[in-house]
Amino acid sequence: MSQFTCTRCNHTEERLPAPPLRSDLGARIYDTICRSCWQEWLKEQTAIINHYGLNLLDATAKHLLAEKTEEFFFGEQSE
Ligand SMILES: [Zn+2]
Repeated sequence: MSQFTCTRCNHTEERLPAPPLRSDLGARIYDTICRSCWQEWLKEQTAIINHYGLNLLDATAKHLLAEKTEEFFFGEQSE
């Protein structure tokens, strides 16, 4: 078993069982992000969906959420 170190929290953690999204971003998350950080994002995601009143069947909403996801895991521009 190879060691897996999450690039977000820098802990050696359990990785996700599978890519969480069907996209390049999902593959990137699977390769670099641990299960605990993903759980953290799921909570944040719910808050964002409620905040913006997002309908996830809507392409614009999906796009916004994908952007927020990328920002959460890989973004540096949080000021
Ligand atoms: Zn992590």
